[in-house]
Amino acid sequence: MSLSEIKHWVFDMDGTLTVAVHDFAAIRVALEIPPEDDILTHLAALPAQVAAAKHAWLLAHERELALGSVAAEGAVELVRELAERGYRLGILTRNAQELAHVTLQAIGLADCFAIEDVLGREDAPPKPDPGGLLKLAAAWAVAPSEMVMVGDYRFDLDCGRAAGTRTVLVNLPENPWPDLADWHAEDCAVLRRMIQPRH
Ligand SMILES: [Mg+2]
Repeated sequence: MSLSEIKHWVFDMDGTLTVAVHDFAAIRVALEIPPEDDILTHLAALPAQVAAAKHAWLLAHERELALGSVAAEGAVELVRELAERGYRLGILTRNAQELAHVTLQAIGLADCFAIEDVLGREDAPPKPDPGGLLKLAAAWAVAPSEMVMVGDYRFDLDCGRAAGTRTVLVNLPENPWPDLADWHAEDCAVLRRMIQPRH
């Protein structure tokens, strides 16, 4: 199946549809999380009260970032074109679902996604777990092999591989994970050109 034939698209949000602004090192310092630890995994292992306070801090910090979101190069044009073609579009993010909606509003793409197809960290196990993609596949009644996962990090690609979807890496000039990405585009503008019918 060629990329231009795929009609079910799932996007990572931060760094894929938006310009990446999360300073994960600063977040780890603020929340006293060791540099080598995964933030969400670390928080999940803390006593409930401590975890709740740190989640609240993280949500407030991320809300500020979400309100100021800036669309990544070509992202708005790509998503609008896919939506106009009538394709099914989803979001799978490790950000909170509420903030995913805030972000999509901020970059002017909220109307392109059905609310139930925007999966945040409350809705699915965090990538690279394939649960979120499998949930969308079930909701859309489509085989994972007919879906594509678009992201800017190896978790997105690992997640796609584990679920059995196709994968696209964007927003990196080189592809450090050629075994994990079926396609690589420097940005969403390039990706949009890759799905145009040939003349
Ligand atoms: Mg990302």
